[in-house]
Amino acid sequence: MKKEMLSLNGWIAEAEEWQQSLADFLIEYNMRELECSAEDLLAKMQEMLDVMEKSVEHGLSGVKSHSGLTGGDAKRLAEAEADERFISLLGEKATDAVIYATAVGECNAAMGRIVAAPTAGASGVLPGVFFSLKKHYQLSDETMQRGMVVAGSIGMVIAERASLAGATGGCQAECGSAAAMAAGAAVSMLGGTPKQVGTAVAIAFKNVLGLVCDPVAGLVEVPCIKRNGACALQALLAAELALAGITSFINADEAIDAMKSVGDALPCALKETAGGGMAVTPSAIEWAKKYFARNDQ
Ligand code: SF4
Repeated sequence: MKKEMLSLNGWIAEAEEWQQSLADFLIEYNMRELECSAEDLLAKMQEMLDVMEKSVEHGLSGVKSHSGLTGGDAKRLAEAEADERFISLLGEKATDAVIYATAVGECNAAMGRIVAAPTAGASGVLPGVFFSLKKHYQLSDETMQRGMVVAGSIGMVIAERASLAGATGGCQAECGSAAAMAAGAAVSMLGGTPKQVGTAVAIAFKNVLGLVCDPVAGLVEVPCIKRNGACALQALLAAELALAGITSFINADEAIDAMKSVGDALPCALKETAGGGMAVTPSAIEWAKKYFARNDQ
């Protein structure tokens, strides 16, 4: 008998039927699947949050990547934000999310320790959203742990129905999935309903559909790091719309399936091969030539 695919729609319907929050429903689901206690599950989430927090700190110290291509932007933006003459177009919550997401992206490019949530390339999005919300809404550790369960469970559905890899589905599958995971978790952490979590996931995917994977010289630096910041913002946008009661004509599972079909249709040049997009711009090609020549010596 064919195994039924994981369904976010199904989980949402069950949680609504039992009048449970999606976090409570998913904690019970994961306890059954992993045969562990709620305490153990949440402790694991805390371990990951601790690593994420250290990655943010490391990135904010102004680290440079080994290639020399990137680094220092998280620190630069944090310093600009702290300057009273700086005109912030986004506002503090959004700018902080970008700062933290960029910091983790830079930590990753500098070979620092990160949580691949869902991948190393997209590892900044979740910390960006989580630590900005923690700062601005004084979220408790437990709320953050529960948010991580929601984010991780959304990631499981995406992994099964589509993909989390840029090499398979383009950057929409990496940074886009991270945006969807963070959006759903943000709604959950701020007290939204299971349906609103699904709406946020669907909106996040609608807004990143078609995003290609085109790393300069094949390094997870340009455009990856800035995309982490951009996808943290997409997550906040999707969460805000869902929490405002705006609905999505396309539901979460359908949006994930649409992401897969677009990923399947993308040419190889736009799936982590550095054969298209930003990777083949004159600036990128010139830099890559010098970089490879330096490394061949
Ligand atoms: S562009 Fe490619 S390598 Fe970079 S973050 Fe996106 S999916 Fe990952």
